[in-house]
Amino acid sequence: MKILVTGGAGFIGSALIRYLIQHTSHEVLNVDKLTYAGNLTSLTDVCNDPRYRFVQIDIVDSQALKQTFATFQPDAVMHLAAESHVDRSILAADEFIQTNIVGTFNLLDVARRYWAQLPADKQSRFRFQHISTDEVYGDLPHPNDADFTGQLFSETTPYAPSSPYAASKAASDHLVNAWCRTYGLPILMTNCSNNYGPYHFPEKLIPLTILNALEQKTIPIYGKGTQIRDWLYVEDHVEALYLVLQQGHIGDTYNIGGHNEVENLQLVHILCDTLDKLVPQSTSYKTLIRHVDDRLGHDRRYAIDASKIHKELGWKPRHTLEQGLQKTIKWVIDHRAWCIAAAQRKSAAVDTLYSSH
Ligand code: NAD
Repeated sequence: MKILVTGGAGFIGSALIRYLIQHTSHEVLNVDKLTYAGNLTSLTDVCNDPRYRFVQIDIVDSQALKQTFATFQPDAVMHLAAESHVDRSILAADEFIQTNIVGTFNLLDVARRYWAQLPADKQSRFRFQHISTDEVYGDLPHPNDADFTGQLFSETTPYAPSSPYAASKAASDHLVNAWCRTYGLPILMTNCSNNYGPYHFPEKLIPLTILNALEQKTIPIYGKGTQIRDWLYVEDHVEALYLVLQQGHIGDTYNIGGHNEVENLQLVHILCDTLDKLVPQSTSYKTLIRHVDDRLGHDRRYAIDASKIHKELGWKPRHTLEQGLQKTIKWVIDHRAWCIAAAQRKSAAVDTLYSSH
């Protein structure tokens, strides 16, 4: 197959491309704008493979997309390009509306017109896979709540996004489903819980905590840190994505999760305890933890029911949280220069955002 991956220089996209090049015989075209979150050095392991190519394109530019489809002639699209950081979406939602909504619309429309003119056999094999998030469902009752009964997000949970990021992803999901229902575009949808692992941008909780601990900087925790997330190791996620691409039912949504519900503060404690063993200092890394003002509209609990993808496609995560965190911490220790450089790019991007809003 020839697979067009959008957002392939990002955290999950680069893990997906490394997987496709190292474990399959497919050709991959990486379509990425290279925002502050995109980093081609995440693809160093595969960038010299003749089956991998990169083109720098903004998915908001429909002409460039049209040309790319015409030249590459993809058999499948795996759409990951997005603005993905909730805090940035609260500060300035413009880019989220442009990339996540307008960009997804452009991609759908270009893909539909391309798909419509394909010969019948190629047309029947074509797939458009949209990679989305569990944040579109809003939040679930927390164990501290009176109405808590262990509720989980299923594929039929109504959408109730809280943040501008989640709302923009929800809008993109609706567009994707509409393009299937209205035009018959063969789509597949996945909604996944929080990922972690190698090449994770250090603005997100896990890599930020590990890097700040190693740098002896404070470790910020929003509010009391009681928010619950369901963590999934990124390599387990990309295996699920490829399985859905190969075997998923057209028009279906698959929820993907790690069965790892943990409160943020507890997660940070696990990271500090592990670091205390691996890289001991005179005092525990926990002394670096500082509680900061909570995020506006912060969702309190996410948890995924991943039974559909397990029953229908046989997928389950390979890594326990403990195994995944061990690997991730070791990766950050071995790739500290990459993480520091990424953190510096993030600081510059945040400064630009503050000065323009
Ligand atoms: P990321 O921020 O690390 O990467 C996003 C990539 O998209 C970057 O390489 C960036 O340069 C590129 N991009 C941004 N705007 C673009 C544009 N206009 N045109 C072309 N490329 C553009 O994000 P991620 O964490 O890898 O997430 C990938 C996808 O998976 C997103 O759609 C996200 O909503 C979804 N998702 C993420 C998680 C998670 O925990 N990270 C969980 C579930 C779903």
